[in-house]
Formats: sequence, structure tokens, C-alpha cells
Amino acid sequence: MPSPRESPGEEIARQVREKGIRDPRVLGAMARLPRARFVPPETRDLAGEDRAVEIGLEQTISQPFIVAAMTIELALTGAERVLEIGTGSGYQAAVLALLAEEVFTVERFAELSLRARGVLDGLGLENIRYRIGDGTLGWPEEAPFDRIIVTAAAPSLPPSLFEQLAEGGRIVAPIGDDELQQLTVVRKVKGQPRSREVMSCRFVKLVGEEGWREG
Ligand code: SAH
Repeated sequence: MPSPRESPGEEIARQVREKGIRDPRVLGAMARLPRARFVPPETRDLAGEDRAVEIGLEQTISQPFIVAAMTIELALTGAERVLEIGTGSGYQAAVLALLAEEVFTVERFAELSLRARGVLDGLGLENIRYRIGDGTLGWPEEAPFDRIIVTAAAPSLPPSLFEQLAEGGRIVAPIGDDELQQLTVVRKVKGQPRSREVMSCRFVKLVGEEGWREG
């Protein structure tokens, strides 16, 4: 982790705070992370802005504001095992790794997973485990999870993910069509789903068996 003097993500945290995010733990985690390391070299100068940036293979690193909003909805205390679907750049996984016990992250593109792993290893984040494959099916061998975060747009909540959620746990996922989704929080109460919509958002498609079909 870079020294505090470098404050690598201070500028991002400031922009996110100005938009109304006040959670000190989430802002603190973002302030510690050098977002520029998560984007391709040619887009480095965009990394300091509160916007999504392309990372190749038609995928993007999410806008920091939405990363913060989703993380807050997970309501992490530090003790949780968290499953993330859509490793992408690894930035969201890094935020989670600083705020939870253990992070399990699944990405369908090997190239992105390996690249993210390189960056996260370089930052010394050791409580993250990686899987390459279809995240709509979760990670059955490691279930149950206290929290699940889906960082790609799902047409509906993948049943496998709800199944792998612990009782009292919560899933945060963008659910809707490929143009616009509602950021949705689903809790498991006595085995049943309780859903709440938080805000509109726009993510790339979740492509898989319990998501969108390829193409
Ligand atoms: N969390 C990322 C943002 C990822 S963008 C970050 O912080 O940068 C969405 C990612 O989800 C893309 O990398 C895409 O390849 C991946 N994805 C889409 N469908 C998936 C699936 N079924 N399983 C795993 N990853 C998937």
C-alpha cells in the first residue's frame, strides 16, 4: 500500500464526498487506493475523475460514486466474506478488501482477472481470491457468503446467487434491461428475498447462464 503521504485516491474521495457520500470508512478506503493503477496506461489521466473509464474487452471500471454507493449498501462491518461478480479492473474488489474479511471475485475474461490480480497483488491486498468463469452461477464451493455484489447488469436476480447468500445477508446488484438498471438491494430474511431499489444506474451486461445470453 502506498504511504499515506502520497494520498493516491484523496482527489477521488473528495469528488465522491462532494456528491453526497459521507461514509468515512468507504471514503477512507477510496482515499488509500491509486485508481490510476487500475486503468490502461493511455487512460491514466482520466483515472482521477469521477467517471467510468474503458479497460479493454468492451468493459469499464465503474464510476467511483457508484462504487461508493454500492459499497455502502453492502453495510460491511469488517467481518464478512464477500462474493463479487465482475472483477473487471479489480478496483471495487480493492475497496471491499479494505473493508471486509475476505473477498471472492469472479470474472469471465481471464485477461481481465489476471491483470486485476497483478494490480491487487502489487498493492499487497492478500485477502482476495480469484476465479475465472461464469459468475452468475456464483462460487458454490465457497458458499455461503455474507454479502454478494454484482457489478454487471442482470436481467433478474440470478437464483444461484440468492441460494449462496447466508441468512440475514444481502446482495447489491444492478437489475434491469441493457440500457438502464435499478441498483437493487436484496436481503435474505427467513430464507425469503426482501428487495429495495436504491437508484438508477448503467452497467455493462452480465453475460452468463443466469444472466444475459452472449451477443
Ligand atoms: N467491478 C469492476 C467493474 C466491472 S465491469 C471494477 O471495479 O472495475 C463488469 C465486469 O463484469 C466485466 O469485467 C465483465 O467481463 C464482467 N462480467 C460480465 N458477465 C460476467 C459473468 N457472468 N461472470 C463474471 N464476470 C462477468
